[in-house]
Parts: sequence; structure tokens; C-alpha cells
Amino acid sequence: MTAIIECQNVSRTYQVGSSKVEALRNVTLSVERGAFLAITGPSGGGKSTLLHLLGAVDSPSAGRVLINGRDTSEMSEAESTRFRLNNIGFVFQRFYLMQTLTASENIELPMSEAGVGKKERRARAMELLQYVGLAGRASHRPAQLSGGEQQRVAVARALANNPSLILADEPTGELDESTGLDLLELFSRLNRDGATLVFVSHDPLVARAAREVVALRNGQISSSGAKATSGLT
Ligand code: ADP
Ligand code: MG
Repeated sequence: MTAIIECQNVSRTYQVGSSKVEALRNVTLSVERGAFLAITGPSGGGKSTLLHLLGAVDSPSAGRVLINGRDTSEMSEAESTRFRLNNIGFVFQRFYLMQTLTASENIELPMSEAGVGKKERRARAMELLQYVGLAGRASHRPAQLSGGEQQRVAVARALANNPSLILADEPTGELDESTGLDLLELFSRLNRDGATLVFVSHDPLVARAAREVVALRNGQISSSGAKATSGLT
């Protein structure tokens, strides 16, 4: 397998006024194509910071992050925006759907930004809604959907431009356990269908669904490895 992401001796320090926070310290990590990796650990451990680096949203203070062989620090702002649009799908705890748009329009948005024509966008959105089990909800606005349904729309949106990598930050954080489990089943299916997934979460269910787990504590990897058993059951 080839690595889709390589983090080499990565540190990220935040400067707030006169104080410094070392959110990540010398983290080395590689994510293989087709992986389903969960990054766990306590709040404040550096999970979101690491995910931002893996998604080329932020750059390390020291070390290198390579995504598909590209050094993210060497991309201009415009380049990294385009790179993210075409290569990475993000799923967040709070969904971040546009409240004024329908489910279908929310999914079409990243395609529109990538220059895909209207007819093709609509057809692909319908296909994705079907994939996430929401074929009957295309015209619903977020307020007319349950939390679990909104997160499924967010997953479909993340898939819109066929990204090679899906990154999720606490994707089950706003969902009850049974809805969270349904969502993780969907992600497991996505992974079986070939998507590379990296999740950060303190939810033990996320770690159970994943195939590899890395624990992050005080900005450092405290343990890592493939699991003897994977899956939710
Ligand atoms: P987690 O997602 O594991 O809860 P974070 O990556 O959000 O952890 O935060 C790691 C540490 O970095 C925390 O101590 C947090 O206060 C600090 N931190 C996170 N983001 C910022 C920021 N934008 N500016 C300053 N400090 C930050
Ligand atoms: Mg976080």
C-alpha cells in the first residue's frame, strides 16, 4: 500500500499573547490508502489540531505534512483551497449545512465550486443521497431533518467531488448512541468501498468501528497499532 498522508516530526505551537501552547509535539504518522484510522485521546490532546494539518487547513510549526506526496507548507492559499476541494472531504461535529439550502443543494455546493455543471451536479447529489439512505429527503432543508439525517447529508456533501480522503472531527459528537452507530455503519461501508478515512474522536464507538487506532495525549502519540478485531459487533 502507498501512504496517502505522511506526517514527519510534526509540531504545532500556538502563540496566544505572550504564552505558547505546544498542541502537537514531534508527531510522526502515516496513513495508508484505504485505511480507517481513529485518532483518540482526551480533550485538549491535540486531535483537532492534527486533523487540520492532515487536511491542509493549517501548516505545522516544524516538520512536514505530505498529502498525496505534496508538501502542504509549499502550497499557496489558493492552491491549498483547490487541493482540498478536489482531494479531501470534511465532516464536522456540528454538520455545518447551509440552513437556507435543501439537502440536494448542500451536496451540490462543493461541486458547483469545482465547476461541475448543474445537470451533472443534481444527478450526482441524487446518487449520493441514495447512497447515504436519504433518497426521499432531497428537498428538505436542514431544519426539516433529524440530527442523524443532517450528518448523512454532510457525509454526502463530503463525498461530492470524489475525494481520496475523508476527514472527520467528532462526527458522532451531536448524535445519540444508536444514531451514531448507524452513521458509523455508513462510514464502514464507505471504507469497504475504497475510501480512506481518518477520524478524530473521544467516542469509544468511533475507535471500535475503525481498523487502526492512534492515541494522542498532550500533543504526542502515546500508542498506536492495528486492532486484532475491527467493526462494530
Ligand atoms: P482536541 O481536539 O484533542 O480537544 P485541540 O487540538 O483542539 O485538542 O487543542 C490542543 C491544545 O491546543 C489545547 O490546549 C488548546 O487549548 C490549544 N489550541 C487549539 N487551538 C488553538 C488556537 N487556535 N489557538 C491557541 N491554542 C489553541
Ligand atoms: Mg477537538
